[in-house]
Amino acid sequence: MLNIVLFGPPGAGKGTQAAKLIDKYNLVHLSTGDIFRANIKGETELGKLAKSYIDKGELVPDEVTIRMLESEVNKTPQAKGYIFDGFPRTTPQAKALDEFLNSKGTTISVMLALDVEEKELIRRLLGRGKDSGRADDQDENIIANRIKVYHDQTAIVADYYAEQGKYQEIKGVGGIEAVFDHLCEAIEQHS
Ligand code: AMP
Repeated sequence: MLNIVLFGPPGAGKGTQAAKLIDKYNLVHLSTGDIFRANIKGETELGKLAKSYIDKGELVPDEVTIRMLESEVNKTPQAKGYIFDGFPRTTPQAKALDEFLNSKGTTISVMLALDVEEKELIRRLLGRGKDSGRADDQDENIIANRIKVYHDQTAIVADYYAEQGKYQEIKGVGGIEAVFDHLCEAIEQHS
């Protein structure tokens, strides 16, 4: 199986690149942000809970997020592999994912981390907010908090994969196709 963690701060281009990668490698795309937003739209209990965190730019608690992610993986037993987009965002999430995948006889192949400087992230998020209607992309204070949360709680997850020799940084600027080519090169080295 090819299991990829697509990593990087909000606005780094994870969703855009994941959409291209699943086509090329025939993988299942699991974006925890997308799953939360679908639950918010469907007005589920999980959606109501997630909304209270997402609206502030805070992380949804690990326990809830991990349970949700595992149940999504279990829905696609025939998958050739996964792109985890926006997950794991904390070290406990990364550990839980490892244990879960190990119990299925598989593992993370590589973490690909998109590197984009902060000014560019803010520019992209505000641009996306105009089209997507995502409230958390329209408010500069929420964006600032999401980037802070990334630095405080999420960036460290890179170390977890680096210790396993699975971390690879990719320049996240220079055009969608150029970034995609770099991601594919890295995948080919790790698969
Ligand atoms: P995203 O679409 O990845 O930018 O995620 C949008 C929001 O969903 C984040 O700001 C968090 O509030 C929440 N979220 C998404 N993924 C996670 C995760 N792995 N852990 C906790 N919260 C998450």
